Amino acid sequence: MTCANHHSRLGFAMPSNSSAMFLRFTPLMKKRLTRRAQAMIGRSLTYFPELQGKSITVGYTRAHLGSAVLSYQRESEPRLIIRLKVRKLTYQTIGHELTHLVQGLGRGHGNTGSPFGWESIPSGEKQCDIWTLARDPLFCDDAPTYLRLPRVMREQWPDYAEEVRKLCITAIKKRENFRLYIRWLEGEIRKLAKGSRREQSAPEQLFLPFPDWE
Ligand SMILES: [Zn+2]
Repeated sequence: MTCANHHSRLGFAMPSNSSAMFLRFTPLMKKRLTRRAQAMIGRSLTYFPELQGKSITVGYTRAHLGSAVLSYQRESEPRLIIRLKVRKLTYQTIGHELTHLVQGLGRGHGNTGSPFGWESIPSGEKQCDIWTLARDPLFCDDAPTYLRLPRVMREQWPDYAEEVRKLCITAIKKRENFRLYIRWLEGEIRKLAKGSRREQSAPEQLFLPFPDWE
């Protein structure tokens, strides 16, 4: 499935606890890897208790988006592989690919310790975006790729990141008894963008001496 054959093995201790996690970098990635990217990957992993004790191979890609693969071998644990580009790497991208690994591991693979008590993460790209943003504000440093966002929100993502993350958390709760939670979420996101645009263009706001009067 992939050319993940002979990587050297680097022990990687998670800062937040002592359980071992093994990161392997492919030879190509080793050539490209920067100290910054390595630190970002290590930091991201501390937010994924589900991946504790697993070996993860990190490869290199030039593509705008990363990728994630679970490669199944006979009678052994699946091999977990993500590929990332190094230039302009974001926590959002790293988190998205790690979330794919958790999606792939699914239920009943020692998938414990998830934040918010998540038992499993449904498969799908939009689902991956939602669960990645919800996991931690760290992963909100860039706009998600697959979730439908109004243009203004992509252009001014930092202004909206926190609110969108809250909506994602609410959507995940809603999913328990509401099948159309993604449609709901994208509707709320649209409202959020419209609401703030109205606010910005409301002329009376420009003249109010004490906007926080009440
Ligand atoms: Zn994806």
